[in-house]
Amino acid sequence: MTTARSFESLLHAVVAVAIALLFALSATSCASSEPDYSKLREQMVLRQIALRGIEDGQVLEAMRKVPRHMFVPPQFRSLAYEDRPLPIGEGQTISQPYIVALMTESLGETARGKVLEIGTGSGYQAAVLAQIADTVFSIEIVPALALRARSILLSLGYKNVKIRIGDGYFGWPEAAPFDAVIVTAAAPRVPEPLVAQLRTGGRIVVPVGENFQNLELYEKTDSGLKLLSQVPVLFVPMQGEIRK
Ligand code: SAH
Repeated sequence: MTTARSFESLLHAVVAVAIALLFALSATSCASSEPDYSKLREQMVLRQIALRGIEDGQVLEAMRKVPRHMFVPPQFRSLAYEDRPLPIGEGQTISQPYIVALMTESLGETARGKVLEIGTGSGYQAAVLAQIADTVFSIEIVPALALRARSILLSLGYKNVKIRIGDGYFGWPEAAPFDAVIVTAAAPRVPEPLVAQLRTGGRIVVPVGENFQNLELYEKTDSGLKLLSQVPVLFVPMQGEIRK
């Protein structure tokens, strides 16, 4: 009887310790409610990017490295690695991760040199390019977005991205010629000054159209632009001079 009782109390003690441990463990995991962003990013690259056919190693590596959650407003951070664009304020959006990867890959070798981006937005696409390019020049028409992107990129240590506030239609003549130009807002046509600032052999990728848009990829040749590919997409409209 005595042995049975002491065994029973030992059992109670063990159960009590186990319950206390469980509470302690769950309290720890509640305290660190921050999601495991690097794991989410790995999953994003595998499921949304690699399985959809992006195979350029440098692009995959860049998508693995850039902390997308740092480029979205705090209230959307938990959605940063979802398969969708997200609002970034001022009526603008950060593009879907797959589109960022697709546009970057489409530039091929030209992405390694001097790249001009029109539509800095959150600065995410610029950061992805900065992993591959020598220098990224990025122009944003909404000052508040340009300033925010600049400070995020600085805080993350990117030194090869230059951001300017202005109408990207006119490009960045002092820094031309560019090896690649990437336009991340939809334009009714390819902006002529951007083609002029592209070197021969360089590539330009632009969403062209209004309600129905195609992501058009061109190579600049001696005899003009040569269309390399076209994919249907949906981007926010390019503003400014191109509308006049
Ligand atoms: N590349 C961005 C997505 C940008 S959304 C990212 O990675 O987050 C398109 C951006 O283009 C918006 O921020 C919009 O303000 C900007 N934009 C629209 N017209 C522009 C113009 N004419 N010149 C420069 N930026 C422009």
